[in-house]
Amino acid sequence: MPKLTPTTRTTPTRLPKRVDYDLELIYEILDEGLYCNVAYVQDGLPFMLPTGYCRIGATLYIHGSVGSHMIRSIEHGADLCISVTLVDGIVLARSAFHHSINYRSVIMFGKPFLVENEAEKMNVLAQFTNHFADGRWDDVRHPDDAELRRTAVLGIRIEEVSAKVRSGPPKDEESDDNWPCWSGVLPLQYTAGAPQEREDAVPGMVLPDYLKNYSRKK
Ligand SMILES: Cc1cc2nc3c(=O)[nH]c(=O)nc-3n(C[C@H](O)[C@H](O)[C@H](O)COP(=O)(O)OP(=O)(O)OC[C@H]3O[C@@H](n4cnc5c(N)ncnc54)[C@H](O)[C@@H]3O)c2cc1C
Repeated sequence: MPKLTPTTRTTPTRLPKRVDYDLELIYEILDEGLYCNVAYVQDGLPFMLPTGYCRIGATLYIHGSVGSHMIRSIEHGADLCISVTLVDGIVLARSAFHHSINYRSVIMFGKPFLVENEAEKMNVLAQFTNHFADGRWDDVRHPDDAELRRTAVLGIRIEEVSAKVRSGPPKDEESDDNWPCWSGVLPLQYTAGAPQEREDAVPGMVLPDYLKNYSRKK
């Protein structure tokens, strides 16, 4: 897969070797992530909201109530900055200064467009539902006309984007080589707990395969 071209906004000022524009890496992070943070400015004030998303090809989609502050503020093409972060571990150095986090993150810039075509909107909502658990859309009731009218779907092209990755052990100063404390990485990952069926469950429902051994890794 090709690499994106860096822009002024996606060019790092620090640690450039950790930043990448490789689309395969960017898509991998976006597909593993569960939610994003959407930042926008309204009336000169910054806002940032966490929200779900899905990716279809080279477009990231978010959705929300047509009445939400975020949707009303951005639906006409506001400038957005969106981030997705996967935390892979806590980096415990010998010095406080060199403590860090192992991560894979994506930052993207763009202006959203409103998805108005009904078939396209339904397709995005299907992918959105499957982003929670692959195959979920086939099992659930699909949105009716009223629900579709109440839901705004926005797309943002994946064009001005960077990924950044930190991995590996702590990096300490040589002068701390003998500092007497445990040092290394504590790996972290999403793990699903045991599924909790709702109390008013329809009798006889079995746990779908996509919830067995659930993992965000694709
Ligand atoms: C979970 C986590 C924890 C972090 N903790 C710290 C911390 O404690 N202290 C610290 O200094 N930094 C931390 N970082 C790194 C931080 O995100 C910045 O990359 C770093 O601080 C450089 O910031 P800058 O203002 O110099 O940005 P610049 O490097 O100037 O940013 C320019 C452009 O580079 C790209 N870029 C920068 N950072 C990222 C990123 N994380 N992901 C994708 N693209 C990026 C973006 O396109 C951005 O617009 C952390 C990152 C993550 C994901």
